[in-house]
Amino acid sequence: MSTTPNKRIAFVTGGSRGIGEAIVQRLAADSIHVVAVARNSEKLAGLVAALTAAGHSVESVSVDVGDSAALAASIEAVIEKHGRLDVLVNNAGITRDGLFMRMEDKDFDDVINVNLRAAFVACRAAARSMIRAKWGRIINIASVSGIIGNAGQVNYSASKAGLIGMTKSIARELAGKQVTANCVAPGFTTTDMTDVLPPQIKEKVVEMIPLRRFGTPADVAHAVAFLASENAGYITGQVVAVDGGMSM
Ligand code: NAP
Repeated sequence: MSTTPNKRIAFVTGGSRGIGEAIVQRLAADSIHVVAVARNSEKLAGLVAALTAAGHSVESVSVDVGDSAALAASIEAVIEKHGRLDVLVNNAGITRDGLFMRMEDKDFDDVINVNLRAAFVACRAAARSMIRAKWGRIINIASVSGIIGNAGQVNYSASKAGLIGMTKSIARELAGKQVTANCVAPGFTTTDMTDVLPPQIKEKVVEMIPLRRFGTPADVAHAVAFLASENAGYITGQVVAVDGGMSM
């Protein structure tokens, strides 16, 4: 028996900070019950407390998405608890940058494992419930690096390009069941991930962005919220770039 009978249920990985936190906030504001997922349970608890105090319906799960069995089990637990899962956002992502001639196998494997393999595991775990309901929204957070490449990011670009190919294939497999699968591909966005860039690199990056600024997490969350909505039911297999025009 569902505890949230009148709400869509969303599962957002990497939901504790940055783009994922903005997605959690935005979907919750759209009256969706959101399960925010990350490793840091304290950070998640703070977010859940703040959103609950603001009248939103949220919960959190602390899991390392690199642990396939734990990730699949956490999705199955959500489906068991709420009776279904309507929206899956695979947003958790990491970087291990370095020039490819010097890149260690481990740095390649770790990035593929978290950015691509975990998304595959989560899609597979969530799909059965969506197929049963004949309604579902899968949204995978790719990157401009997966579209145009980026020096120093062979592992990351490969994971994000892989995510795009995987999403298009899933879209084709699930279209007959009215389950859509799309990617949102952010450009440079102001979060912890880009905070590490030296100021002179940030200035160079801004020069490459037609809209002449970094994106905000909310810029990305708005696109995700649209793709998760009833209004996006005829959009599948697409990559929505939220990158200030960088990849055009
Ligand atoms: P971020 O600020 O570094 O946040 C990453 C989020 O993922 C955190 O909530 C983190 O929480 C979680 N996470 C990382 N590894 C995890 C794991 N193994 N298991 C579970 N959760 C994990 O990153 P962001 O900038 O918001 O990026 C979000 C997504 O957008 C990523 O997929 C990234 O590749 C993509 N993206 C970002 C940019 C950008 O410029 N920021 C550009 C293009 C694409 P814990 O550490 O607590 O686990």
